Amino acid sequence: MLGRGPGRTGRGPQAGAGGRGTGSAPAAGAGSRGTGSAFGSASRSHPVVSLLSMGLAIPGSLTPSKVAAFKDCALAFRFSVIDRLPEPPSAQAFKGTVLHRALELLMWEQPQGRRTLEAALAKLDRAFAELVAGPEGSALGLEGDEREGFIEDARELVRNYFVLEDPDSVRVIGTELLMQADIGFSPGLRDGSDQETGLPPEATLRLRGIIDRLELDDDGELVVTDYKTGRAPGEAQEQARLGGVHFYAFLCDKVLGRRPVRVQLLHLREPTAIGAVPSDQSIAGLELQATAIWEAIRRACYFEDFRPKPGAVCERCAFHAYCPAMGGDISLVHAAQAAARDPAACELGEPVPAEVRAPRLPLVAAW
Ligand code: SF4
Repeated sequence: MLGRGPGRTGRGPQAGAGGRGTGSAPAAGAGSRGTGSAFGSASRSHPVVSLLSMGLAIPGSLTPSKVAAFKDCALAFRFSVIDRLPEPPSAQAFKGTVLHRALELLMWEQPQGRRTLEAALAKLDRAFAELVAGPEGSALGLEGDEREGFIEDARELVRNYFVLEDPDSVRVIGTELLMQADIGFSPGLRDGSDQETGLPPEATLRLRGIIDRLELDDDGELVVTDYKTGRAPGEAQEQARLGGVHFYAFLCDKVLGRRPVRVQLLHLREPTAIGAVPSDQSIAGLELQATAIWEAIRRACYFEDFRPKPGAVCERCAFHAYCPAMGGDISLVHAAQAAARDPAACELGEPVPAEVRAPRLPLVAAW
């Protein structure tokens, strides 16, 4: 484990379509649920044919943000990843997008020795100009003082970045790298079938992630860096927050055949760097944890049993209108999905409350 604190070497978190009927079909007669349609037998000489409800669509892959979201609150995970409910634009998320782009431009367009603060601030201006006209920026509609405040805060984060490391020392070999690896997976009973749900065995579990930055250290070894624009975690949450970069280390190990010697989170707000050294134990632990989370998601989809987990995360949750723990009504989910697909058609049908069409709370942050 590396150290923590400010300084250049300081130590040192696709979904299937929403809706029903597209998941894996349970074996006829298996499982404890029976909420779907059932057709009786035609005669004694023919087997009973049952069409059970197939539950919610199971996501196609697992990413660090999905793991974190499911652990934070399974119900919010369902609303976001499975139901794909619309979420309001987030200035914090957009700021992260702009910062990532600016630092990417700094690494690729400025050779080592010319990555100055002035150059980084110029890249920030360019990144903002490019992205503010895009879908994410347009949805926010930043104007006037709000726009100026956004830019000034982003500039402060760039200045903080230079407290954490000297970009001239970075031997970058990749940015925004999409990696994916399939690992062997079988349900919890590990006998080729899931006797409780009847879910068929899955041959593989797909893990995916986008690595902010991959570089070489002085010895030519891989280092994974992840930029964060939100608050750094307290000491107690530090290890949990490193789950995302360990996920990336696992992907490097599987895809490139080389395990990074270091993974690090650069929290630009404080600024604080948090790092760790991947090990045999952390790589194996990541695979075990991913498999366990995947199994829990599969079962939750099958049983449509995603439970709320009220806590601090609720402050950033956009789904209060649907959450029973917040006095919301989960039956509004289907109306919200219909409104998102075709707002005009929805107005002809059941009325959808305004807060469902346009939730006012900020987006659940992904990491
Ligand atoms: S309001 Fe809280 S408990 Fe409800 S879905 Fe959101 S995060 Fe989960």
